[in-house]
Amino acid sequence: MQDSHDVAVIGGGPAGYVAAIRAAQQGARVLLVEKEKLGGTCVNWGCVLTKVFLADVKPFYEIERSSLGLNEKEARDGGLDIHIGRFPFQCSAKAVAMRKPEGFVKLIADKRTGRLLGAHIIGIPPS
Ligand SMILES: Cc1cc2nc3c(=O)[nH]c(=O)nc-3n(C[C@H](O)[C@H](O)[C@H](O)COP(=O)(O)OP(=O)(O)OC[C@H]3O[C@@H](n4cnc5c(N)ncnc54)[C@H](O)[C@@H]3O)c2cc1C
Repeated sequence: MQDSHDVAVIGGGPAGYVAAIRAAQQGARVLLVEKEKLGGTCVNWGCVLTKVFLADVKPFYEIERSSLGLNEKEARDGGLDIHIGRFPFQCSAKAVAMRKPEGFVKLIADKRTGRLLGAHIIGIPPS
């Protein structure tokens, strides 16, 4: 064992495996020692997993929310009799064509006068 390698690399992360491969390409007999998982932080915990995780949660962190005027509670607390209209993006041909049908628009109007009191949108913004 002592005479069988020219180079010993400790750690099988990106630094270690690149060094080991390069040394082997140069003709050295290389020993790579890894105490946990080959690939190191980048492959097993860091870069790759964070990118996979971010791709999974993308629809959630991209959600956009806009509000204008009164919300339902504020209108009711103000003693107003209200109409509420909910319109899912799935009803919009444009949203469906853009493959972004998640979300909805909520409109709040005064039942007596028909006046618009509030408009609220939650959905995935166009990219
Ligand atoms: C959450 C996160 C996200 C990241 N995202 C990116 C990115 O997008 N792009 C980017 O370029 N970089 C990113 N990085 C940084 C990248 O992971 C590191 O720069 C890279 O892993 C460093 O490589 P390394 O070989 O020096 O160390 P490590 O990858 O940490 O490898 C060291 C290896 O040595 C082993 N070891 C330690 N001591 C011993 C011992 N005594 N005996 C045997 N084995 C031992 C360890 O088990 C480990 O496998 C990210 C890091 C984290 C934490």
